[in-house]
Amino acid sequence: MEDLKLLVDLHLPNHRQGPGSEADTLRALSLAGLAGRSGLRVADLGCGTGASTLVLAQHLDAQITAVDLVPSFLRALNDRADRLGLGERVTTVEGSLDALPLEPGSMDLIWSEGAIYNIGFRRGVALWRRLLKPGGVLAVSELTWLSGQRPAELQAYWDGIYPEVDTAAGKLAALEAEGFSPIGYFPLPESSWLQGYYRPLQARFPAFVQQQGGGERARALVAAEEDEITLYERFKAYYSYGFYVARRVEG
Ligand code: SAH
Repeated sequence: MEDLKLLVDLHLPNHRQGPGSEADTLRALSLAGLAGRSGLRVADLGCGTGASTLVLAQHLDAQITAVDLVPSFLRALNDRADRLGLGERVTTVEGSLDALPLEPGSMDLIWSEGAIYNIGFRRGVALWRRLLKPGGVLAVSELTWLSGQRPAELQAYWDGIYPEVDTAAGKLAALEAEGFSPIGYFPLPESSWLQGYYRPLQARFPAFVQQQGGGERARALVAAEEDEITLYERFKAYYSYGFYVARRVEG
């Protein structure tokens, strides 16, 4: 629990809590093909402080339910939505990705950036499918191998942390097996990792360590984040987040 609090303190002031960008969100939104529709019901799952939620609220005629486990992230999202005049479109809900307080068959669009790995991709898409209306769209980003070949060291690292990392072909096959028809896939560009996520995170490390009184656990957390960043910089040719957009098949 203490470590979760530290993680939250580290990530709370930042614009986003995982790789991505406004351009990526808009690209996936354009694949979703919902332009011109009104009164949409949308869920943003694992929303963090709402980087994607706010883009969706700006570009869709929709009521958006934004779900996360962390109440302080949701408060930050509410503040940001109010400041942008989007508060009426966004409802935040504290809840877990695998026990969502949403009605089956109720959603036109389910969005989730950098969060589904917490419950596993295959399990997540199967659970979330039931929440979509038939014909509803899922847009989800997920760690993805960029080709079928990679260094053994990198494979071993991710096997230890998240063995479900797969190629886009594997992820698309999982979506099809769970009753989705893929509309599109694209890998996030390097800028969505570095400028969008890691550089702002690194800029916060000194203030975070100071805020935590220089404590050992805070310094260990920063060291672990630095290791993750170094891994990315060494091996970014081999992995990224993939953005997957798919339609729920009838039935
Ligand atoms: N979508 C945001 C945040 C990504 S980080 C962005 O792109 O910036 C992953 C988010 O998932 C965090 O906010 C974390 O609090 C949330 N999360 C992790 N496990 C969760 C769970 N089991 N249920 C709900 N939210 C969860």
